[in-house]
This record gives sequence, C-alpha cells and structure tokens, in this order.
Amino acid sequence: MPELPEVETVKNELLPHVVGRRIEGVTLVWEGIVKEPSVEEFLSRITGQMILGIKRRGKYLMIALSNGDYLIVHLKMSGALIVAPDSAEPPKYVRAIIHLDEGKTVFFRDPRKFGIMRLVSDVDFIEKKLGPEPLEDDFTAAVLAQRLAGRTAPIKALLLDQKVLAGVGNMYADEAVYAARINPWRPGGGLTRGEVKRLHGEIRRILWAAIENRGASVDTYFRPDGSQGSAHYQFKVAHGLGGDTCHVCGGPIERVVVRNRGTYHCPKCQPMK
Ligand SMILES: [Zn+2]
Repeated sequence: MPELPEVETVKNELLPHVVGRRIEGVTLVWEGIVKEPSVEEFLSRITGQMILGIKRRGKYLMIALSNGDYLIVHLKMSGALIVAPDSAEPPKYVRAIIHLDEGKTVFFRDPRKFGIMRLVSDVDFIEKKLGPEPLEDDFTAAVLAQRLAGRTAPIKALLLDQKVLAGVGNMYADEAVYAARINPWRPGGGLTRGEVKRLHGEIRRILWAAIENRGASVDTYFRPDGSQGSAHYQFKVAHGLGGDTCHVCGGPIERVVVRNRGTYHCPKCQPMK
C-alpha cells in the first residue's frame, strides 16, 4: 500500500506533467472509482478545468483546479497514477483515464479497486481525519509524546492510526519501531521520553530516506513514469524484505500479528521489557 513516501513521490513526479494542463475529459472505465459527487456531476464539473497544483496530506493527493474544486485521489491498496502520451495503450487494470491537453494522459491503474476519486469544493474533511504531518518542522518529539500520552494500544497500531500521525502505514511503522528498538506491542503511552525521542527521529529519517529513494515498490506501487521506486532495498524488517536475521544482532526476525497487521520485528533488539 502506498504510504507517505510513495504518495509524496507521485505528487513530485506528477507535478511537472500536469500543472498548467487543461482536463479535456475523463473516461471512467470503472465508475465506482468516483465516490463524490455523482458520476454525471463529476464529469461535467471536472471537464475543461485547468490543474493549478498538487498537494499531499497524509496519503491523500489534493489536485487544485481552476474552478476552485479539488480532485482528491487516494491510492489505497494498489492504486497508481501513470503519465503517458494520449496515443498510449491503457495498461491492464486501468479504472479511469484523465485526458489532458497537449497530448498527455494520466491513467489511474488499480488492480484491487480500493482507490478513490472525489471532487470537492473544500478539503476540510481531510484535515479532520488526520493527525500531524511527520515531516513538517512543527512535528517535534514533544508533539509525538502528546499524541501517544495515555494511549494503551500497541505503538505499532498507534503509528498506523492516521489521527495520531498522518501518512505512516505498515511498512514504515515496522521500520521505525525496529530502528528505535521498541517492541511493537508496547503501549504507546508507556514509552519513556527517550524512546519517544528516538522513535520520532527514526520516523523522520526513514520517511526522508524513502522519499529520496522514490518510494518502495513492494506489490503494485509505480512512479508516474511507470518505473519502480527503490526504498524497499533499504528495508531492515518490513514485509520480511530485510531477510530472516536481524541486521544488528543476527537473531531471527519474527512475524507477529498486531491488531490484524503482519508485523516484523527482532524480539532480542526490541524486547518487551
Ligand atoms: Zn536484533
């Protein structure tokens, strides 16, 4: 599933192709991808609009249009936005095709069909769903401590909670708690100040590094030019991609299930205490 670094990469690499382009039309290969408004209204409101910019918030893309609307895209489990010439053959699993002027097209490819598009006039509903952005300057260790205070849920589950922190998912949560040497089952509110500080630093370091590597192409994530990211080559534990043994102590990496999510960790380096 695309997480913050993947969605940030999509935004960065889509921007130069689409900003200033006019949307000449949208072909909905699968109408269910539009969640709001009705398909008819979606098509009539989006057609003819110019794309002014793209912002990311958490795992959401917010594409600003010239009529004041925003096209909100969430890639969910398996979505990808691929830029291609208008003449290109649509890839397999394409659900929507955004036709731009000057001969460009954006394919919304989504094998598992969880991805969504919404056309809205304000983005407040996204703000209400999300906690702080982990890479913003105002996201300090003290802010993370505040978000975790009093929470009894496992730290792994809290990092996945988009209201605690926006944009982190299963892969980067596993990487962060491993790097911070914190057991994924530890109650979030029970971490020491030192542990929170370490975790805060590792979350930011790992997310920045993953953006530099253009995201992790496990599963179906692709960059807008159709190529893969390389962040997964840096994984120490996530998805079991770091191997069976711990990079630090050489002990076995174990897979457990924390609140329904597969979680890889080193029991020796990340003890329960
Ligand atoms: Zn270890």
